[in-house]
Amino acid sequence: MKEIQRKPLVCVSVCEQRASDLSQAIERASALRADIIELRLDYLAGAELNEALARLESLTSSASDAFIITLRPAEQGGLREMDSLNRIVFWLDMLSKAGAELCDIEFDVARVLMEKEGLDWTRIICSHHDFTGKHSNLEQLYEAMKSVPARVIKIAVSAKDATDCIAVFNLLERARDEGLELIALAMGQAGVATRILGPSRGSFLTYAALDKAHATAPGQPTAEELRDLYRIQEITEETSILGIMGAPVSHSVSPAMHNAAFSASGIDAVYIPFETHEAGNFLRRMAHPRSCEIRWKLRGLSVTAPHKTAVMEHLDWIEPAAREIGAVNTIVVEGEELRGYNTDASGFLSPLVKRGAELSGKKVALIGAGGAARSALWSLMRAGADVTLFARDLKKGARLAEEFGTRSLKLDDARFHDFEIVVNATPLGMRGASEGETPATRSQLRGAHLAYDLVYNPAKTRFLMEAEAAGCETLQGLEMLIAQAAEQFRLWMGTQVPLEVMRAAAERELEK
Ligand code: NAP
Repeated sequence: MKEIQRKPLVCVSVCEQRASDLSQAIERASALRADIIELRLDYLAGAELNEALARLESLTSSASDAFIITLRPAEQGGLREMDSLNRIVFWLDMLSKAGAELCDIEFDVARVLMEKEGLDWTRIICSHHDFTGKHSNLEQLYEAMKSVPARVIKIAVSAKDATDCIAVFNLLERARDEGLELIALAMGQAGVATRILGPSRGSFLTYAALDKAHATAPGQPTAEELRDLYRIQEITEETSILGIMGAPVSHSVSPAMHNAAFSASGIDAVYIPFETHEAGNFLRRMAHPRSCEIRWKLRGLSVTAPHKTAVMEHLDWIEPAAREIGAVNTIVVEGEELRGYNTDASGFLSPLVKRGAELSGKKVALIGAGGAARSALWSLMRAGADVTLFARDLKKGARLAEEFGTRSLKLDDARFHDFEIVVNATPLGMRGASEGETPATRSQLRGAHLAYDLVYNPAKTRFLMEAEAAGCETLQGLEMLIAQAAEQFRLWMGTQVPLEVMRAAAERELEK
């Protein structure tokens, strides 16, 4: 059996229901370059557990990897109903056998095991999982767990907001100062920053799933994502941190585009999704250089729904264009300040300019009256286009049109034959609930020259198919997505990004 020679980085969890599937899953984990493999024995249904235990030695000795054995009870987020007496018996039996596997034993049982003499505590990870989301007593829990002489302490709490990561990062720093091996992480999408940055902050390891279908805890990234997307093996405390703040953020394509761009440009930076529900709280506690509660090199943020307007009152400076538009989608940390920009506007215009579209005096129909429509309207008006806004809510449309000095009409039975360009700035056609829907049919679009859809997933929306059938040229939303991201990259890094790198990364991500 293998000794753990050095501190592992990525632990891939294997969670099979049948003992006969374990060997293949271990091979897959090894192929993913796991530093250590966790066997989640609690996933084995009924008598499969005994079968796996009978084969444990041959299973763990067949691979070159080191192992962690886990038998998580249901009340700690596992799958096995097992009272503490049975768990104590199980672990005493496991530890009585020679072996080098680490044993992940819950705090309640580990405390009882302290009464036993002669246990090899160098094989024990003492863990506690809190799914309540109320972990104000994290430091207290850590203090209590320190009394167990385990090789490693593990504390996993659930996070509802990215700010819940602060306590975890601070605990890691404290453990490092005290020379204690700690695994600390926040579960859930909002805690993903702790999983990506944990090892660079001293966490003994971070967990990864074999693939999306095999995550053993909420928010757990796959091994491939940690290695290839976030390049976890290259992250240090010197690495610049960037990310996207919003809710939800889990489906954002931005981490794929920006991380690929950093990698291709040889820049030591990582881009992370931050699910956050209150813009001011997040910026104050995690971003502003004067009030940030963690030590990290935050360099900038993308801002997405619902925070593009809400962030504005918390910034030290906002570029005039973003002020006029009324939305910030990019924050740059500069010295002691947070500075706000809007790259949606230039990102919207850039693909039109690239096509050589002359906008001055051109008749443009803009469908929608939300955030994207605002940025598009501002850009079009500045370029001298003759814009008519079409909205399902006439009052809302009229308010926006008036603000930018143009007219609005009701969307219902609009006809666009009079317009050079028709822009869809509604979510109609987006993958998910409104996939296959369109704000305009071919008969409505006939006679228009160009149809531009801001929806980018799927690449070819029903709106663009209707436009093609009506004989219009088409422009996909992916072009805007790439252009606005490239401008963000320039603002943060001061250099241009190879656009093709971002395009390829976005396309790969959208194909998943
Ligand atoms: P938003 O602020 O929620 O605004 C959506 C607008 O669409 C609202 O005016 C809404 O009308 C209207 N709308 C929604 N459902 C409708 C329907 N069934 N019929 C008619 N109108 C409808 O969203 P957003 O931020 O502007 O985003 C809009 C789309 O643009 C999204 O798909 C987004 O992904 C895309 N986008 C793309 C990029 C890019 O880089 N390509 C950038 C930004 C946004 P009400 O006001 O009446 O609710």
